[in-house]
Amino acid sequence: MIGRRSFLKAAGVSAASLATGSGIAHAIADVDWGRLASALEGRLIRPQDSEYLQVVVAFFRQFDDRSPQAVAMCRSASDVQACLAFVQEAGVEYAIRGGGHSYQGYSNTSGLQIDLGEMNKISYDDKAGVVSVGAGVRSGQLPAALSPYGVMIPAPRCPAVGMSGFTLGGGLGFYGRKYGLASDRLIETELVTADRRILTCDEAQNADAFWALRGGGGGNFGVNTEFKFKPFDVRGPSTIFQFLWKGKDPAPILVAVQEAMSSAPHDLSSVAMLQVSEPLSTGKPERPELTLQGHYFGRKSHVRDILQPVIGRWRPTRQTVAEVGFWQANTFLAHSMAVTGLTASKSSFLPAVSEAMAAQAVSAVSEWPGSSLPEAGYAFLLWGGAYNEPKPSDTAFVHRNAESAGAWITSWSSGDPRALVKEGDGWLMRSWEASQKYALPQSYQNIADTNMPNWLGRFYGKNLERLVEVKRKYDPEKFFDFPMAIPTQR
Ligand SMILES: Cc1cc2nc3c(=O)[nH]c(=O)nc-3n(C[C@H](O)[C@H](O)[C@H](O)COP(=O)(O)OP(=O)(O)OC[C@H]3O[C@@H](n4cnc5c(N)ncnc54)[C@H](O)[C@@H]3O)c2cc1C
Repeated sequence: MIGRRSFLKAAGVSAASLATGSGIAHAIADVDWGRLASALEGRLIRPQDSEYLQVVVAFFRQFDDRSPQAVAMCRSASDVQACLAFVQEAGVEYAIRGGGHSYQGYSNTSGLQIDLGEMNKISYDDKAGVVSVGAGVRSGQLPAALSPYGVMIPAPRCPAVGMSGFTLGGGLGFYGRKYGLASDRLIETELVTADRRILTCDEAQNADAFWALRGGGGGNFGVNTEFKFKPFDVRGPSTIFQFLWKGKDPAPILVAVQEAMSSAPHDLSSVAMLQVSEPLSTGKPERPELTLQGHYFGRKSHVRDILQPVIGRWRPTRQTVAEVGFWQANTFLAHSMAVTGLTASKSSFLPAVSEAMAAQAVSAVSEWPGSSLPEAGYAFLLWGGAYNEPKPSDTAFVHRNAESAGAWITSWSSGDPRALVKEGDGWLMRSWEASQKYALPQSYQNIADTNMPNWLGRFYGKNLERLVEVKRKYDPEKFFDFPMAIPTQR
């Protein structure tokens, strides 16, 4: 089998043009797309087709310059096999697209977009207690499919995020302290490999690949076409809460929040967000505000008890605590980020929030240079509980020792001046770097970040060596390749 780079070389595409994408369009001008179209059960969409824009636009609009020559709307694992055979024979660049939320646009390509979006069936086997999710399912589809059964699986809060990329990189969210990562609840997945075999991966079959697919990150070992999960029951009481502190120094409140939260039962999950409240157009805010939002599998009175040390001392500017059904809670917590999708993020895993860490975070957030959007700041997702129960080596997801997961975020609109966008980027890097003396040397692989030093070590830690071995076994030619792919050599 020949790797992707070897194919492109054979097709006359240089490394430089591979980096810019410029030579690829030329090299694939003569590609016989009709041949691929007739091999597919699904449709092949070309730039002249009316559906084209709808299927190529991904969440992060800064990668729009990479637009495909064709999009294969796969309907089955055999469609994926046909796509792989085609790109291997024709020497065409490709990308695998689940939900299109890769932080580095790794599901964008100038060649063939292998799109799984229509493999979006969800089913529940009541007897076996197993939820099956197609590779194109987005998180927002889960409630309608699973609420009749009173079960759920871990899901991201943004309804448009793909369950594929989310699960393969770990998959954390509001129910994780009690029920773990999406990848912790994965019991089986179907994988199409570079040599076009269709493998079932679980604890008994291809167990090494199954280990790697739980946290190793999307696009590294093959194309996953289906995922099976062990769900959890959500028929008990659910309470949601949201507190806002404005016009006060948020640093001591943040420390108190972390203290109250870390001793809270694992039924409780929360995210604390330090952010500037107003977009630049309305003037610079005086100081960041702090929002605490979360979910508790239990009664409202318990949430107030848990948070009393914080809300009793620092009166929130606004507050909501409501006992609602799980599905209403899930809707309340759903969050669609930045309307334009022009945003960037850097992550870390953190020990307990100290006064110094909180002060650094507050001071950095105050220095955000602004943009026409208010989505910027630093988010702390409460960690612990079921997230930390497996050993770091039990699956490829190594981050099992933190107290919270932190993410710096900046965003902008397409109309914002370039200099301001660049300043926002600089702010992101500076703030993240300054926070590192308080952080663990680990980052979340699902927040792909090319500027991060030692990203392989930070994403995979001691599991890297084993991931390299699995990569060598299932994809020895590194056919599945992108700038942050797992290597075949150390
Ligand atoms: C607005 C927003 C909110 C988010 N919220 C959360 C959150 O709450 N929790 C969390 O853990 N993460 C969250 N993330 C991060 C998210 O999990 C990752 O960005 C994830 O990779 C997105 O997956 P996708 O399928 O949507 O993206 P894609 O861009 O389609 O895929 C991501 C990567 O996986 C590969 N890939 C996709 N599908 C497959 C497949 N079936 N087989 C093999 N490879 C595949 C792609 O080629 C690409 O390299 C969020 C991201 C955004 C932008």
